[in-house]
Amino acid sequence: MESQELNNIASEGFGPVAAPYFNGSAWLKVLVKPDEQTTCFIGEVVFEPGARNHWHTHPSNQILIVIYGTGYYQEYGSPIREIKVGDVVNVMPGIKHWHGASPNGKFSHYAININTDKGLVDWLEPVTDEQYYSKS
Ligand code: MN
Repeated sequence: MESQELNNIASEGFGPVAAPYFNGSAWLKVLVKPDEQTTCFIGEVVFEPGARNHWHTHPSNQILIVIYGTGYYQEYGSPIREIKVGDVVNVMPGIKHWHGASPNGKFSHYAININTDKGLVDWLEPVTDEQYYSKS
């Protein structure tokens, strides 16, 4: 997909993500909204180059499926992992991590959160530039 097409997609049904918990610009389109019957959230997230979320944990698994570009995923105490289209990351409950774009291009993933009756996310401190640029 060309980036122009991604821009067009990003203009339909997307809204800016919760600003205090992201560095840089990112956009969210809610695909499945949880309720009492459906304890699952599915969202499509688009990150501008260099954008990433803060360190955080989820009370239940979060499954990330990369659908555009190359991004970064890091668990606390481990090196940054580069993730590409088709990659799936199953984030275990309570694992401190962050995800976002690489510095050089737009990035998009689906985010699937299960057991949303337990909550969605617990935000922690921002990812510093030193941490973000530690990718070797
Ligand atoms: Mn997460």
